[in-house]
Amino acid sequence: MSKITIVGGGLVGSLLAIFLARRGHAVRVFERRPDPRRTDVYAGRSINLVVSHRGWTALRAAGVEDAVKAITVPVHARMTHDREGRLNRVPYSIDNRAIWSVSRGELNRRLLSEAEKLPNVRLFFDHRCMDVDLEHAECVFEHAGAQVRETADVVFGADGAFSAVRGRMMLGRFTYGQEYIEHDYKEVAFPGHPDGTSSMDPHCLHIWPRRWFMLMGLANLDGGFTGTLFMPHRATAQSPGFDTVQGEAEVRRFFREQFPDVEPLVPDVVEQYLRNPQSSLVIIRCEPWQVNGRVALIGDAAHAIVPFYGEGMNAGYEDCKVLNDLLNTHGDDNWPAVLHRYAAMRKPNGDAIADLSLRNFVEMRDLVADPRFLLRKRIEGRIQARHPDKWLPLYSQVKFSDIPYADAWREGLRHDRIMEEVLAMPGIETKWESEEVERKVLGLL
Ligand SMILES: Cc1cc2nc3c(=O)[nH]c(=O)nc-3n(C[C@H](O)[C@H](O)[C@H](O)COP(=O)(O)OP(=O)(O)OC[C@H]3O[C@@H](n4cnc5c(N)ncnc54)[C@H](O)[C@@H]3O)c2cc1C
Repeated sequence: MSKITIVGGGLVGSLLAIFLARRGHAVRVFERRPDPRRTDVYAGRSINLVVSHRGWTALRAAGVEDAVKAITVPVHARMTHDREGRLNRVPYSIDNRAIWSVSRGELNRRLLSEAEKLPNVRLFFDHRCMDVDLEHAECVFEHAGAQVRETADVVFGADGAFSAVRGRMMLGRFTYGQEYIEHDYKEVAFPGHPDGTSSMDPHCLHIWPRRWFMLMGLANLDGGFTGTLFMPHRATAQSPGFDTVQGEAEVRRFFREQFPDVEPLVPDVVEQYLRNPQSSLVIIRCEPWQVNGRVALIGDAAHAIVPFYGEGMNAGYEDCKVLNDLLNTHGDDNWPAVLHRYAAMRKPNGDAIADLSLRNFVEMRDLVADPRFLLRKRIEGRIQARHPDKWLPLYSQVKFSDIPYADAWREGLRHDRIMEEVLAMPGIETKWESEEVERKVLGLL
């Protein structure tokens, strides 16, 4: 049995605590913020997330699948809304598979409560990590104006994109890259009907793609939706930005022009836009993910990515599952071997999902409204239905399988090359369901 310190009690830290405590380790979680079950630390920032296959695999292995499923809504398709309010529904898979919408705040609260049920987990809120002694696995926390020291056998930095644990590792031999994308985001809440029903199909992820910016909405259990507007921080020649869409009149004009079907559903959309905070999006890549076989990074602390594949948390949950599997293989008292292997296995996949997520941004804000892109999806769906052993679309590899992200990325690039040739076939729009097209794809595989 080891004594473990987890810095950060967010989405990944709370699940990691459950995994490690179930193995018999003594786990102490130190979280900077107050307890989210007692204070609304997520007000105005409670974005919705999607849990997908990898997330469920990890949640099941940790024994909390049912507890989490109870607070999710299944989502089977994308529903795009054009500027005229016309809808187009595109299923995520040919076999009606789902991703699952959940409120970030609800999920965090649920996992903290599940962790707290275990006798060998202790949670400490309002404890901000200030320093880590990487050799002795000792952390220094600030709590109520005083310093608290905590020594452990192993420390996990699950303290998110701006990790203090990583900050300490950066003082040594450490490679680090941080990139802000030009887009920021803001939350907009869509109310449900008083009887708990929804004004839009709750089993779809709703997108209003506008080429350079987009709004998306995911259902909540109460019939409402949490919407997120992604838009450039600064306006460009092609796009409005958060710096120009300001003031009541301009915000109203913007929503009426760009998202005419939203205002009737969200009567206070302008007030919400003016009131809610604007947040930025950052990509972080770093190496190594562990030092001295005693201190390791996990979740966003190791690999913060943009949210456009909805995989940041799922990737963090897969980190936890991989770590648990490695403990099964190497034993619970061989932390140097486990952490070394964990970092070696996960780093390439962290990089791959960072690249995949940027790519999906273009797909979501732009391509989902492009007829050629939709044609490609139809061709891919047909090939997959007829040859499931030969063709699994990239989206399905990422969202509905355990294929390592790095392998999915390589395969996705190969699919791009094949589909480019297929879409260049004369008359493809009318003959996409023909045997000729099928033979062409199979020949290129
Ligand atoms: C708009 C948006 C949409 C997203 N959608 C999805 C999605 O659909 N699906 C998906 O899988 N992912 C999604 N993500 C990504 C997901 O939110 C993150 O990957 C996930 O929250 C990472 O969890 P984490 O525990 O590593 O970090 P965090 O959730 O950031 O938690 C870190 C915790 O550490 C605490 N902390 C920080 N510093 C300290 C310190 N010094 N001392 C002590 N505690 C500290 C923080 O208070 C926090 O509680 C989305 C992200 C955004 C921004």
